[in-house]
Amino acid sequence: MTDTEDHRRLIVAGTGIAGLTAAIYAARSNNDPLVLEGDEPGGQLTLTSEVENYPGFPEGISGPDLINEMKAQAEQFGSDLKHGVVENVDDSERPFRVELTNGDVYTCDAFIAASGASARTLGIPGEDDLMGYGVSTCATCDGAFFRGEDMLVVGGGDAAMEEAHFLTKFANKVYIAHRREEFRAEDYWIDKVQKKVESGEIEIMRNTEVLEMHGSPEDGVDHVTLARNDAGHPSEKLDDDETEVSDFDVGAVFIAIGHTPNTDYLEDTGVELDETGYIVAKGGKGGGQTATDVPGLFGAGDVVDYHYQQAVTAAGMGCKAAIDADDYLEDLPENEETEAAAEAADD
Ligand SMILES: Cc1cc2nc3c(=O)[nH]c(=O)nc-3n(C[C@H](O)[C@H](O)[C@H](O)COP(=O)(O)OP(=O)(O)OC[C@H]3O[C@@H](n4cnc5c(N)ncnc54)[C@H](O)[C@@H]3O)c2cc1C
Repeated sequence: MTDTEDHRRLIVAGTGIAGLTAAIYAARSNNDPLVLEGDEPGGQLTLTSEVENYPGFPEGISGPDLINEMKAQAEQFGSDLKHGVVENVDDSERPFRVELTNGDVYTCDAFIAASGASARTLGIPGEDDLMGYGVSTCATCDGAFFRGEDMLVVGGGDAAMEEAHFLTKFANKVYIAHRREEFRAEDYWIDKVQKKVESGEIEIMRNTEVLEMHGSPEDGVDHVTLARNDAGHPSEKLDDDETEVSDFDVGAVFIAIGHTPNTDYLEDTGVELDETGYIVAKGGKGGGQTATDVPGLFGAGDVVDYHYQQAVTAAGMGCKAAIDADDYLEDLPENEETEAAAEAADD
């Protein structure tokens, strides 16, 4: 045992909205959760200045404010929030052994993975500076802020098609930039987008990549630099005479090239992950969808839910995972013995 090895009844990985909701419920059920923040305390919502669709805030609320209120609520009921990134969970023994990247080790009876998913980004100049100021990875969340603007969606999969289709509600016109000729998206989405192309609401730019984004946090996105080459992947062919580089005016850019679920630390466990790394949930009472193949190990929020990926759905799953973990903890043999002993003492 190291100096920092410590046993907890429940550990929650993540202080996004799923982890914090789980923490509130778990603390109120006397499960004394240790809640580990990971590399991104507060999770994805800390990246957005305005949340307009979380119930209860008719005027909207900033992502960081919502998260801070939830942290205060979790701590008020006794959750123990700590810095710490989980590197590995050993489920070959009970209690689980939870190893952190800083070398600390904890053991716990139950574990909730609420470690979210990180949106993939392009890694091009201007992107980081304008993220949250006209550049977004979530059309459902941010589309309404750019009503009447020309909008650019980057990507060629289902998410890009769905986001482009959704954005036609707000945009003057939606452009899709895809680096190849063919889309990876399912026919269903391609057909839906094609109808919008025919009505003039969407224009597709194939074999086109964004090289740079221009603008300022004060004024948002002004324009982007695009590269185009009929052979595809133009950014790899900038020296080619066939590659055209040009500026393109847009008011907002939505990057829809997928998410990466944060599940590396579960790879050696019995938890089933799908081909992209999302936790495959196994139902639960009332269709909870937080149980995994490993009894006592639960998943909540975007780390499980690759489809909805919204604050309110992540919060709902955090609640369900905490209740499922509580049911599991109550049924552990040692707890049954303790309860039986307490009842005998009362008699
Ligand atoms: C720019 C942007 C704007 C958005 N706006 C809205 C909106 O307006 N409305 C809405 O409903 N949704 C919005 N969303 C989506 C919403 O933020 C997510 O659906 C929600 O945050 C998911 O919550 P989560 O707790 O599952 O995961 P996350 O928020 O991703 O949190 C994951 C947590 O896990 C931690 N973690 C990761 N790996 C580890 C590890 N190994 N060990 C310990 N901890 C770990 C991270 O540090 C983080 O604290 C937005 C998303 C983005 C990116």
